[in-house]
Amino acid sequence: MTNVKAWAAGAAGQPLAPITIARREPGPRDVAIEIIFCGICHSDVHQARDEWSGALFPMVPGHEIVGRVTRVGRAVTGYAVGDLVGVGCMVDSCRACAPCNEHLEQFCEKGPAFTYNSTEMDRKTPTFGGYSTDVVVDERFVLRIPAGLDPAAAAPLLCAGITTYSPLRQFGCKPGDRVGVVGLGGLGHMAVKLAASMGASVTVLSTSAAKEADARRLGAADFVVTKGGDLDRLAHKLDLLIDTVSAPHDYGTYLGLLRPRGAMVLVGAPPGAASLEPFSLIMNGARLAGSLIGGIAETQEMLDHCGKHGIVSDIELIPVSRVNEAYDRMVKGDVRYRFVIDIASLRGGVA
Ligand code: NAP
Ligand code: ZN
Ligand code: ZN
Repeated sequence: MTNVKAWAAGAAGQPLAPITIARREPGPRDVAIEIIFCGICHSDVHQARDEWSGALFPMVPGHEIVGRVTRVGRAVTGYAVGDLVGVGCMVDSCRACAPCNEHLEQFCEKGPAFTYNSTEMDRKTPTFGGYSTDVVVDERFVLRIPAGLDPAAAAPLLCAGITTYSPLRQFGCKPGDRVGVVGLGGLGHMAVKLAASMGASVTVLSTSAAKEADARRLGAADFVVTKGGDLDRLAHKLDLLIDTVSAPHDYGTYLGLLRPRGAMVLVGAPPGAASLEPFSLIMNGARLAGSLIGGIAETQEMLDHCGKHGIVSDIELIPVSRVNEAYDRMVKGDVRYRFVIDIASLRGGVA
């Protein structure tokens, strides 16, 4: 075991603070990674504040990890010392069940080992995320960062990127489709870039009128303010809606914007139950779906797509000492469009 520096929430809602955690010695299939950047996802906030319940503390959040390989186990074939790699939301799964065999490790029947707020597959050893200097991960859960992408701005692809890429692919996003993106935050701005790169005509639906110019710069063709704006002009116009909103809201408002048999996919995960009027689905045959990150193979496919199209996140790089402030700003919608922690600030002890 090696002790490494990290930042953790000690209990639900407590500010994050420095902690020392142990990382295992690399086994035969393991890759040891020196973390360089880690994005801040709204799921980090939900979990550090135990908004989804069942959270494990102390919690070292962070599942948008980019780093360099420092050591590899003797049986590792895919990576070498010095490679620029990524780690997303999962670090292991059972690798034997039907979903694992179908490259859907996120739906592993045993439950995947999530990168933090979870356990390894022994169901005992806690996992700790990327707000730390180093991590050790089985090579099957390590991703390759394409050359040419800025490593800091590529970090959010590991969650925000795959979480929006996957539903666009699942619902066959193609040139000419009209795609609506609800909420322009970390996930939302990646959904805009990715849908536009697939040839879709993108409409952003936002509570923030001030984000219109950004939305258009990111690739949106249209923008509508959801509160008090003219949603009616979009009635029955959209093929696909990706809902990325992090706070409770009314889904029925958006279902009427779909063309007959269009789909609305929930990726935003606000806590609590939602109510739905059945006729809001029935009257235009709307499909309401959910989507959870993506499998490892699809995550690599997304990274390669981003490498080909030069897609990265718009980021604000911060030292780890500003993580608590970043959480508060994120909850207020004040992030354009992803905070990324410069892990050098943690390594150097400047934090
Ligand atoms: P984020 O950067 O905070 O963006 C969320 C956006 O939602 C905000 O920028 C804001 O956009 C909108 N919003 C916030 N509060 C709102 C409210 N009260 N009413 C209406 N709109 C509101 O968060 P994120 O990192 O993109 O994550 C978004 C959600 O996805 C979180 O719930 C997160 O846990 C979840 N998530 C799910 C998965 C998955 O696999 N399904 C993966 C990652 C994250 P506007 O200012 O444009 O309105
Ligand atoms: Zn995330
Ligand atoms: Zn499995």
